[in-house]
This record gives sequence, C-alpha cells and structure tokens, in this order.
Amino acid sequence: MGISTGGFVLKNVKLSKAHLIGEQNKGFYYAMEGFSAARILIAATCVGAAEAVLELGIEHIKNRRAFGRLLGSYEGIQFPLVEHHTNLESLKLLNYRTAWMLDQMYSHQRFTHHDIAKAAAMCKLRAPLYAFDAMNEVADWLGALGYTKEFPIEMGIRGVRSYSIGAEGTLNIMRIIIARELLGNEFLPYRS
Ligand SMILES: Cc1cc2nc3c(=O)[nH]c(=O)nc-3n(C[C@H](O)[C@H](O)[C@H](O)COP(=O)(O)OP(=O)(O)OC[C@H]3O[C@@H](n4cnc5c(N)ncnc54)[C@H](O)[C@@H]3O)c2cc1C
Repeated sequence: MGISTGGFVLKNVKLSKAHLIGEQNKGFYYAMEGFSAARILIAATCVGAAEAVLELGIEHIKNRRAFGRLLGSYEGIQFPLVEHHTNLESLKLLNYRTAWMLDQMYSHQRFTHHDIAKAAAMCKLRAPLYAFDAMNEVADWLGALGYTKEFPIEMGIRGVRSYSIGAEGTLNIMRIIIARELLGNEFLPYRS
C-alpha cells in the first residue's frame, strides 16, 4: 500500500514556548515549503513503484509462452514495454533534477521557492498517473495472474492511485500551481 489513512483533531491545545518551531504565525508557510519536498518524495515513490512493476512484467514476458512463443517476442508486448521504459527514464530525470534543485536552494541559495514549487508540482502531476498506467499495462501482460491478490499489482494500483487522488494535493492543485508560475498570481482562479 502507498500510505495509510486516518485523521485527528486538535482543540484548544496550549504548548510552552519551548515547543515553538521557527517563528510564530509562520506555520502555514513552513507547511507549504514542506509540501514541495513531500511532492518530490511522492513522485520518487511512484517512479520506484513503476520501475518495480516493469521489472516484474519483464520477468514474466521473458518466461511465459502463449501460442508457442514467449510473450516477450510479440511486438504487441515489446512496443508498450519500450514506451513505458522511455517514459520511466524521462520521469526519473525530471525527479532527480527537481530533488537537485531543492538541494541547491538549501545549500547554495540557488533557485527560488517558486521554481521548486513548479518543478515539484510537475513531478507530482506526472509520476502518480504514469505509475498507474505502468501497473495497468503490466496487469495486462500477466493476464489473469495480474488480477489475483498473490501478485502485488492490484495492491500497487490502489497504492499509486492514492497519490493522484489526494496525498500532498490533488492533480488539479498541481495544475493550478504550474499555471500560476507560468502566468502569474493575477491569473489564479480564486484571486479574480
Ligand atoms: C492517501 C491519502 C493521504 C492523505 N494524507 C493527508 C495528510 O497527511 N494530511 C492532510 O491534511 N490531508 C491528507 N489527505 C487529504 C487530501 O489532501 C485531500 O483528500 C485532497 O486535498 C482533496 O480534498 P478532498 O478529498 O476534500 O476533495 P475535494 O476538495 O472535494 O476535491 C474533489 C475534486 O475536485 C477538484 N477540485 C476542488 N477544487 C477545485 C478547484 N478550485 N479547481 C479545480 N478542481 C478542483 C479536486 O482536484 C478533486 O479532483 C490525504 C488523502 C489521501 C487520499
């Protein structure tokens, strides 16, 4: 599974000054800053999940025979594999670059929070959807096996879906962030 779900409520909680993190009344901004890092991690999780499922698929198509031939020798299987592998490598690079930008911001004051927010939103927009696609593709290669609970694909499909539905912001929120960075704050739908 991707992540567990639950909730909690805080009411009238009072803490001593010793528990104050950073500056008072800046919590929202600290949380928002954390979201960019978290979105990079989520994208990395999805890239890892996609890579794992493709490896599982490759193992299967190199061993399973249908109509007298190995599945991996049919172009109908090879071509989607190639597309998936290429998409995976492109996403990996986007993710590594964004993680590098975040490192650069903290260690060398290069890049702004806006640059990072946009790059992290691009990772979070693409990786969960891509991982979902890769899972679906490999589920096809596995045939009925892919539908069983003995194989981790049904679990993976549910797991990566959690990252596009909500965790660390919905896909539309990622789109809004990217559009804001491309067009400017005055184009934010909730500002006009
Ligand atoms: C696995 C998982 C883990 C989570 N972990 C946490 C957590 O740790 N902490 C936490 O606080 N929350 C967490 N969430 C909650 C998550 O942040 C919310 O589910 C998410 O923000 C969507 O809010 P919502 O469920 O109320 O849906 P809604 O806000 O009702 O959104 C429903 C749909 O409408 C779209 N939508 C809403 N407003 C707009 C708009 N203005 N423009 C365009 N489209 C819009 C959304 O993109 C979405 O597709 C988690 C959710 C999941 C699924």
